[in-house]
Amino acid sequence: MQNSSTNKSAEILAGTSRFVPTASEQEISCDEVDWQTAFSLAVRSASELREILGLPAAASVKGEQSFPTFVPWEFLSRIRHGDPLDPLLRQVLPSADEDVDQPGFSADPVGDLDAVVAGGLLHKYQGRALVVTTGACGVHCRYCFRREFPYAAVGSRSEDWRGSIDYIRNHVEVEEVLLSGGDPLTIVDHKLDELICAIEAIEHVRRQRIHTRMPIVMPQRITPTNSIQTASIDLAC
Ligand code: SF4
Repeated sequence: MQNSSTNKSAEILAGTSRFVPTASEQEISCDEVDWQTAFSLAVRSASELREILGLPAAASVKGEQSFPTFVPWEFLSRIRHGDPLDPLLRQVLPSADEDVDQPGFSADPVGDLDAVVAGGLLHKYQGRALVVTTGACGVHCRYCFRREFPYAAVGSRSEDWRGSIDYIRNHVEVEEVLLSGGDPLTIVDHKLDELICAIEAIEHVRRQRIHTRMPIVMPQRITPTNSIQTASIDLAC
């Protein structure tokens, strides 16, 4: 049985404009919602996602407990209603395939843990280091290779990047720094600004790149801040 908010959601998705529902039952355009509000409105369960999109209910998937569903409306509104094979949906809907033991499965498929050299910093390639800035994301992608990454244990949840900055400062071979996560654009501007400026002040660093999906899943996150504009943006994590 559908509740009134789901009916409202179906109406919104059937419309031609992109809208998000609000607690007051009013519809407002995605463009009018700031990114923190968009975060709070995101859909957080597979069953709700199915209901909103007019898909049949399904048994819950074990993988959703360790890696919960998280889909902002800005992304959801681009998914085709009633189509279980929609490629955008398949990126975010937990699948029973996740619960099957697959040969060769690894919780650390790209060898991140062996590359941790300081709190939240990975150094795999001589001239490039990667800061795991946070464990938070603007969407939960089922294919993520860091879905089981121990963010808290490696210090990526504290927003204290001094260890990473000191390491980069002491390794003159590091010319390029990737800000990754999680998603660095889930960090508030003044904290991100501090990090970017601290890295920018290191003479041997020539490039900073931000690995993010936010321009795709929550485009209003791109605000006119000077420090973000000094780094290039890669639309992947
Ligand atoms: S780190 Fe990137 S790929 Fe992984 S869930 Fe977050 S946004 Fe998706």
